[in-house]
Parts: sequence; structure tokens; C-alpha cells
Amino acid sequence: MVTERSFAELNVWQRIFAEHWNAFTDYYIDKQGRHPPNYWYENVERMLSCGNIREGYYEYQCLSCGATRKVGFTCKSRLCLRCVKSAVDDWLEQVRSVLFEGVVHRQVVLTIPQVLRPLVLSDAKFMKAFVDAGAAAIKSLIEGWRPKLKIRVGLIAVMQLHGRSGNQNPHLHFIVSEGGVDKDEKWRNVTYFDTRKLRKIWQYHVIMGLKKAIRGSKNQKYWNTTLGSMFKKYPSGFDCNCMPEKGAVERLIGYLCKYVSSPPISLRRIVNYDGKNVSYRYEDHRRGQVCEKVSAVQFIERMIQNLPPKGFRMVRYYGIYARPVRRKIYDRLRNVLAKLVRRAESTAKYFSKRYGMPSKQAIDNTVGKVPLRCKRCGSTDLELICIWDKNKGFIYHIRAGPSLPPCSSPAKTDSQPRFVQMLLPI
Ligand SMILES: [Zn+2]
Ligand SMILES: [Zn+2]
Repeated sequence: MVTERSFAELNVWQRIFAEHWNAFTDYYIDKQGRHPPNYWYENVERMLSCGNIREGYYEYQCLSCGATRKVGFTCKSRLCLRCVKSAVDDWLEQVRSVLFEGVVHRQVVLTIPQVLRPLVLSDAKFMKAFVDAGAAAIKSLIEGWRPKLKIRVGLIAVMQLHGRSGNQNPHLHFIVSEGGVDKDEKWRNVTYFDTRKLRKIWQYHVIMGLKKAIRGSKNQKYWNTTLGSMFKKYPSGFDCNCMPEKGAVERLIGYLCKYVSSPPISLRRIVNYDGKNVSYRYEDHRRGQVCEKVSAVQFIERMIQNLPPKGFRMVRYYGIYARPVRRKIYDRLRNVLAKLVRRAESTAKYFSKRYGMPSKQAIDNTVGKVPLRCKRCGSTDLELICIWDKNKGFIYHIRAGPSLPPCSSPAKTDSQPRFVQMLLPI
């Protein structure tokens, strides 16, 4: 049993998982000879209980008519289509705070041949080596351009595990500042992005990085040989692409964050689910809009294999954007950077227009619907009166209304309500 909820409570995405998760795990064990990773089970369970008030809820009271309303906690699973939005907001916030305003950025995409993809995806350790190799390759390309100056640029890496259809295709998107700091801490513009050179440098770094990472692992011998054969097989290096900034870099970041933090699908892309098969649409770069029909088990396989391992950071910062360095450089170059600034307001405006309110507020307000309304009178003037959690009981409440305590609750009431803010996000 993956969920106790009735099917009526679940959306089509959740139903597919609820009805076929057991069949999927049998299929997986059969195919792979081992159980699916624990974090897959965990995420499925969390996603299926998203918004379930038996797990925990916020209770609001309408200030106009007094009616109360409970809103279940969101699950924050990366597998949950409902929770994706707040995850995206968090990422955007974070990335936005790192970029040096006014600096032009370039997008660099790095890929690997199909035969190496399963290796990268098989362990978080290899994923990390993969991203680090990408950063090292770009740094080395730029350092090689003016070796004496030792220019360091800023890099933001976004790792993606899948292609558009949900197929496994780990690849890297880098946002690279078209400028950096030289050894004398002077700002230098950098527009040197030689794709032909980068192909070979990337190939070298990723092969060496992975070779190092597989030392001592089970299939070391096989992968060592495979990795070694790549230089001969791909004499001009691995595919990569350096694209100049088109439009605001914020837009690109918005797109990347959205793409990376969600399952490779949205609910409206599921065209049909008949209890056995799923038809879904996706954008294919060669064939355009594609609609494909697969069994539910296959569908789950495609979607879940893109779930990043627990705690794995899909966005990373390197060079002068790396956390310990960034602040220092920024303070020293404040004046130079100020000249480059295109106006921070336009960025802020773009974000607020496009992505709405900050996620904490969104979580606070409701599951998916903003703003929260009173079901009886339609007023949006609602006050948070209580937070209840399955394990912790009442975490917060401001008054004992007629609906407290809830009948299903085994919880103790806190005599001293604490601040709501301390408890978010849940
Ligand atoms: Zn009301
Ligand atoms: Zn959720």
C-alpha cells in the first residue's frame, strides 16, 4: 500500500503512481536485480500524501463569516507536480542572489555520449565528478586564452538528468560570466568561447574525472576501458555548445530552474490515462511536438529515474561565484560592477511578474491556489489560527475555536504557541 487516500482525492499523476507503483518495483527488481533506491520510495510516499490533512495542516479562519478551513501541508518532494512551483521559486531566489548584476552571461551546454550516461547516473559520486569536470573544463578553456592573466570567471552549473521525453540524458548547463577577475583583481571582459577547443578539453576533464571517481568501485575495470576508448572514438571531443546571451539571463535561469527541479512533465502534458497506459506530450528538438503512449510502469520508470539523489545539489557555483569567494570579489569590484549594471530593478520586476509571490507565502496560503478564499463567503481575509502536524501535534494556534482540537488528532496542545515563521518551511 503506498497510500490510504481514496482515488477521488488524487490527481492523475498521483493515481498513476498509486495504481502501478508495486508493479513498477517488481519490474525494477526483475530488470536490475536489486530494489529501487530508498529515496524513490520515500518520494513516492511523500508525493502521494501531499496536501493530505491527516499528515498535517494549516487551519484558517475567515474574518468575515468565521468559517474555518484546513489546508494540508505540501510535501516538497521533487516528484510532486504540485510542489514544483515553490521549489522553483527557491532556486530562482538563490541563483538571482549570486549573479553579478549587469554582467553579460553565456550559456554553455556540455553533453556525453550515450554509452557513458548510465555510469554518471548510477551514483551521486559520479554525478558530482561530472559537474566538477564541466566547471574545470570551462575554467581551463578561459585560463588558456590569456594564461598570464589567470582570469577567473563566475560559473553556475545546472545539472539535468533527462531529455525532453523523460529519457535519461545527463547533461550540464553552465551560465558563465563574460568577464572575470585577473591575478591583480582587475575586471577583464571575456568573450572567448571556442567551442572546438572546449569539446576536447571537456572530453579530457570528464573522462579523467570519472576515471578517478570510479576507483575502487564494482565495475571499475569495465568503465576504465570504456572511458579510455572514448578518445579514439570521439577524436574531436564531446558535444558542447556555447550560446551568447539572448535576452535577459534571468529568463534563461528561470527556464533552467523550472526544467531541473520538476519531473520532466506537467499535469497538462498527460493526455490520457486509461488505468493501464499513459499518453503524454513532449517537445522533441527534431520532431517537434510528440505524443507518446507507454505502459504506466514504463511511464513511472521514465519519470522517476530523473529524481536526483537525496541531498544532491543540482545547482552549483564555481569560480568567482563560489560561495566563499563571491562576497569578497563583489565588495572589491563594487565600483567596476556598478558601471556594468543594467539596473537591478528590471530583474526584480521580471521575477515578481513572472513567478509571483515568494514561496513561503505561497506555502502558507494554500496548496496550489493563490490566494486562499473562504469557501463559504468568498472572502480572502483569512487568518491562520492553527498548525497541526502528525508527529509534533499542535505547533501553533492562536485561539481555541469550535473546530479545535480536530477529532483525528492524537496531539497535545502547546500551551505557549510559538511563532509560525520559525516552523516554515515544513
Ligand atoms: Zn467567510
Ligand atoms: Zn507536494
